[in-house]
Amino acid sequence: SSGQNTITATLFPGDGIGPEIANSVKEVFRQAQVPIQWEEHYIGNTVDPRTGSFVTYESMESVRRNGIGLKGPMTTPIGKGHKSLNLALRKELGLYANVRPCLSIPGHKTRYDNVDLVTIRENTEGEYSGLEHQVVRGVVESLKIITRQASSRVAEYAFHYAEVHGRKRVSAIHKANIMKKTDGLFLQCCREVAENYPNIVYEEVIIDNCCMMMGEWRTTRRISFETTTKHSGFCHGIFSLVKNPALFDVLVMPNLYGDIISDLCAGLIGGLGLTPSGNIGDNGLALMEAVHGTAPDIAGKNMANPTALLLSSVMMLKHLGLNDQAESIHKAILKTIEEGKYLTGDIGGSAGTSEYTKAVCENLQ
Ligand code: NAD
Repeated sequence: SSGQNTITATLFPGDGIGPEIANSVKEVFRQAQVPIQWEEHYIGNTVDPRTGSFVTYESMESVRRNGIGLKGPMTTPIGKGHKSLNLALRKELGLYANVRPCLSIPGHKTRYDNVDLVTIRENTEGEYSGLEHQVVRGVVESLKIITRQASSRVAEYAFHYAEVHGRKRVSAIHKANIMKKTDGLFLQCCREVAENYPNIVYEEVIIDNCCMMMGEWRTTRRISFETTTKHSGFCHGIFSLVKNPALFDVLVMPNLYGDIISDLCAGLIGGLGLTPSGNIGDNGLALMEAVHGTAPDIAGKNMANPTALLLSSVMMLKHLGLNDQAESIHKAILKTIEEGKYLTGDIGGSAGTSEYTKAVCENLQ
């Protein structure tokens, strides 16, 4: 639209259903007059020695230069001697945090209709450091690495995210009662960062309690859940993701817990076709992507649900501060699903990707 400078963003349409759902995003952006110009990149068919993977150096450079990108699902080619695509992207671009907003979609009925939480996962260390070996036969060892640098960085991002998105509370999810040193350091870093955000409530929740807990909930700072008691510091009831997900706001956690909890949360709002995500890297770089894979069973058949990638593109616009366009596209998606006339097969309809996309475009305001 007039008066706005055009922003260049990298687009990886990806494989399988990737190009179809990427087309949907391009079409919706065109209709919404989003001031974004795409720089399209595809995965090469040979290993690029400069990245050690099928992702070309030029693609990496494009994301680094633009600082912003949208990625469709990709098939990791099988064979030895190269890094997986996701690992290559994570390492090369320093993607240290994975962010997944989980928001109930009115009109798509699931067990809960009031979920509105965000999981933020540390994405570079913990149990995923790849340091495993056999000590003697029958005994193996795996190293869990937690550093002050990576923990503070992801905590800082979580509080920053909470502040920018008008969120009230950050919960650090941990198992520091058992993993005293590693998760202990993670919590220590979260506490230090929390000190700088006095307007955001900070609390610590042991991961098993996060999944299921009855009884008393204590926090390190004052909280008040209207649904429970007015006591400050603790309240009574059932607090868990599976029983009462509405009690959670922003959750920040080490790598392994994040892997599991973020999938659980995606399940709460209706699954793969609807869940967006973002990867945050060095210098504020961001690469957004749908959570699902290439869906080879329905690729090329105009059957894919583009919602997850569309919602990822909404995250991208918010990251860029293009809040009006983000809101308008988000509302159009919700309206289209709520109307229920043009839904794709995975969420109970019979419309094609293109009809659903057209309906979203028509619902733009
Ligand atoms: P998948 O997510 O591709 O498919 C699982 C099931 O969900 C399939 O039945 C599929 O049809 C359905 N589905 C997924 N997304 C959908 C959508 N948008 N609309 C409608 N239905 C949808 O998982 P998979 O089968 O385990 O993996 C297939 C390929 O994708 C593999 O090569 C895998 O490596 C790759 N993959 C890539 C990423 C990524 O690039 N981030 C993530 C996961 C899997």
